[in-house]
Amino acid sequence: MTTWVRAWDEATGQERARAVFATTFGAAPDGVWSAPGRVNLIGEHTDYNGGLCLPVALAHRTYAALRRRDDDTARMVSGAEPTAVAERELAGVAPGTVGGWTAYVAGVAWALRARGLTVPGFDVAIDSCVPVGSGLSSSAALSCSVALALDAVGALAQDRAALAADCVRAENEIAGAPTGGMDQAAALRTVPGHALLLDCRDLTVRHVPFDPAAEGLALLVIDTRAEHALVDGQYAARRATCEEAAAALGVDTLRDLTDTPGDAERALATLADGTPEGEVRVRRVRHVLAEIARVQEFVALLEAGRLRDVGPLLDASHASLRDDYEVSCRELDVAVEAARAAGALGARMTGGGFGGSAIALVEADALTTVAAAVDAAFTAAGLRPPAFVV
Ligand code: ADP
Ligand code: MG
Repeated sequence: MTTWVRAWDEATGQERARAVFATTFGAAPDGVWSAPGRVNLIGEHTDYNGGLCLPVALAHRTYAALRRRDDDTARMVSGAEPTAVAERELAGVAPGTVGGWTAYVAGVAWALRARGLTVPGFDVAIDSCVPVGSGLSSSAALSCSVALALDAVGALAQDRAALAADCVRAENEIAGAPTGGMDQAAALRTVPGHALLLDCRDLTVRHVPFDPAAEGLALLVIDTRAEHALVDGQYAARRATCEEAAAALGVDTLRDLTDTPGDAERALATLADGTPEGEVRVRRVRHVLAEIARVQEFVALLEAGRLRDVGPLLDASHASLRDDYEVSCRELDVAVEAARAAGALGARMTGGGFGGSAIALVEADALTTVAAAVDAAFTAAGLRPPAFVV
């Protein structure tokens, strides 16, 4: 029995958030605002290197029912735990003062105020069908839904790029979660039928046609439901290695090495100093530079209407993340290999790694067969069954 995590339709999501609001606060909200989770097609561990990534929005969204107040209080409740209502004064919100999920909510108000905007107190009820902690960015779906709500009730008239930046600050500085900007851009800046090419050097975006259904295909997301304790430390270590390499090579970010043909090869030759540490540095940097090139090739294929030809790029991205960047894990490798063996056009881990989710591009009519094959492979490997998202 495969487990599918279905998306709510817009009306259901709105109604659920309204119901939590009414039960908790005994009134109707001013409105309901929502933002989606995302999955990254390609371009992994490139964001903090000023590189390129290519997320798509999921149909799964987080809904925020919100009503403005006349004082400085924020009352917050989530459908995930509807009996626990958090309450705090917004004036007291600062880095290190808010723990738990409410940091993603109060943090947005804090970030907007930090820019000098006038944000009122509020009551908010959250409900969501985005899987939490699966690398599908439930955190940005949450902060971005709240940003849209506060922008509307405060009549702030901020554009979406500015709101995305506020949500990044909320996650980094109030929730204490390192995040490079992809999740928030995906939640606020995608348009239907398109992936979002995000240039993390200047946060500019381009909308690239992506419509698997039109090609008889489907994007299967496999939530491994695995989380390994390594995540935070390994993320910080990869980031530090990249920053050290960039400094040693005299560039601001590794991305700068992709601007001029030949620079990438020269950089790798420079880093290969014959020591074991040098060899590791070469592999890390090689992943980042090759992955940025793969994003460019992937986008060129999509823009040429050749979605069916992207499979090898997905496979190469996985191999690079597994062998050069060393951020895969057994669950992700099993998911990817089983999906391919069952006929996927290509598959790879997505997100930071060490657990989280994998994606597979599959024929639409083979969706359930591939999912069943992945499920069986997990059982055979003695792993807890995964969950599936389309
Ligand atoms: P991801 O963003 O990949 O799902 P994160 O660890 O970045 O994983 O974010 C998960 C956190 O976001 C949760 O631990 C919780 O604090 C918060 N969160 C997300 N969605 C909700 C929700 N619907 N209700 C309450 N908290 C949520
Ligand atoms: Mg997150």
